[in-house]
Amino acid sequence: MRIENNYDVLIVGAGVAGLNCALHLPKNRRVLIICKDMPDKSDSYLAQGGICRLQGRDDFDSYFSDTMRAGHSENNPAAVRCMIESSEEIVDELVSLGVDFARNPDGSLATTREGGHSKNRICFHEDCTGKEITATLLKRVTELENVRIVPQITMLDIVESGNCCYGIIARDNLSGETAAIYANYVVMACGGIGGIFSHSTNFRLLTGDGIAICLNHGVAVDNINYVQIHPTTLYTKNQAGRSFLISESVRGEGAVLLDKNFHRFTDELQPRDVVTAAIYKQMQKDGTDFVWLDMRPIPKEEIEEHFPSILEKCREEGYDPLKEPIPVVPAQHYFMGGIRSDLDGRTTMSRLYAVGETCCNGVHGANRLASNSLLESLLFSKRAALDMAKIWSPIDKKDAEYAASKLDFSKYSDYKQLLEEYKQTVKKAIKEAENVKPHFGST
Ligand SMILES: Cc1cc2nc3c(=O)[nH]c(=O)nc-3n(C[C@H](O)[C@H](O)[C@H](O)COP(=O)(O)OP(=O)(O)OC[C@H]3O[C@@H](n4cnc5c(N)ncnc54)[C@H](O)[C@@H]3O)c2cc1C
Repeated sequence: MRIENNYDVLIVGAGVAGLNCALHLPKNRRVLIICKDMPDKSDSYLAQGGICRLQGRDDFDSYFSDTMRAGHSENNPAAVRCMIESSEEIVDELVSLGVDFARNPDGSLATTREGGHSKNRICFHEDCTGKEITATLLKRVTELENVRIVPQITMLDIVESGNCCYGIIARDNLSGETAAIYANYVVMACGGIGGIFSHSTNFRLLTGDGIAICLNHGVAVDNINYVQIHPTTLYTKNQAGRSFLISESVRGEGAVLLDKNFHRFTDELQPRDVVTAAIYKQMQKDGTDFVWLDMRPIPKEEIEEHFPSILEKCREEGYDPLKEPIPVVPAQHYFMGGIRSDLDGRTTMSRLYAVGETCCNGVHGANRLASNSLLESLLFSKRAALDMAKIWSPIDKKDAEYAASKLDFSKYSDYKQLLEEYKQTVKKAIKEAENVKPHFGST
């Protein structure tokens, strides 16, 4: 193995949640971050629209009610409050780490708007905010002597006994070796589940492995069928691979949705699930595979400055948003459910934390409000790091080795088959939950 078999904290995932957790752990702790592929292959890199920041105390009630309304009031109000109250601190921390957000002429942070928000409160960097934030965090983490990031290592299982987590079973994807790695604390920061859907904006490698592993080990999982469908991804004849997102801030800045006769058919700034339902209804009525999104109400200079990547991608596909509407279709986008975690990232298993999109702390309720996800991932991963530092205690190495000795390593020999089984485990759990409690967003 390229890695040692013992760490203080083992973080599974190198997106914003995993990286920010590592940044806030005490510098005297040895930390390992692993990821399935390279660190830039995370959904965090793909985030376009931005990150919410409270716009002064007067904005609190409005931001709170926008988040609750989008989430159909199934949100955990304490988690929502905690997130909103910390949003200024989190964005300011990013700025101090070197994240270059768009600025107003007076130097203050510029803000944009997306569906479900009653006012502008989203900080952004062009239309690639996620890349700007994640690349900055990655740079800062690689400067830390106590943290090691090792790409191309996949978590295949956890080492567990008596509802206590002692580490993970990891596979080195370069050599094919499999081994147990022990840690005092394991943090699941392994993102969403888009890879189990045929049409998704997510990286295909995000197949909910952490969710399946938790289900297999009796760790509580909540709202597993709460899957968000984004209303607008670019429609192409070849729909294989990752769907390209057309950020909601495009509609926030004035783009409109049109039917096959180029007539508007809905209010574009409603929450995502409502706009998605309106698009599906219109597609059915029109007998089409897509609807049109017209960006021409946005000034040309604004499109070029704020949405350069979207402009480039549309042109690559043969559409010029400055001159014509572009075809869009909904696709799976986000997972509101996940491993049950409290406001400090603790799961129902001792020494196991879950943060970021893979966890469910109830912030998003039944439907996530746009641009709340980076914020949520950053805040609760920081809180998890601070919590670990506070309650720190080492595992008993003998207990850990005993737990690993009970594992049947032969079940890890067929990697592809195992990951396929994990996909099926998640799909089955979604289906079963849907039977108990139907969710409008699921597919
Ligand atoms: C196209 C797109 C646009 C978005 N735009 C926005 C936006 O504007 N604002 C916003 O707030 N949110 C946005 N989001 C959502 C947001 O980007 C994600 O929810 C957030 O980045 C999740 O971060 P994360 O760290 O939890 O997971 P990710 O960034 O997805 O990272 C997951 C990590 O886990 C690793 N991993 C997974 N399984 C394993 C395993 N078995 N073993 C080892 N490693 C594993 C992966 O390799 C990866 O490193 C967008 C999402 C997409 C897809």
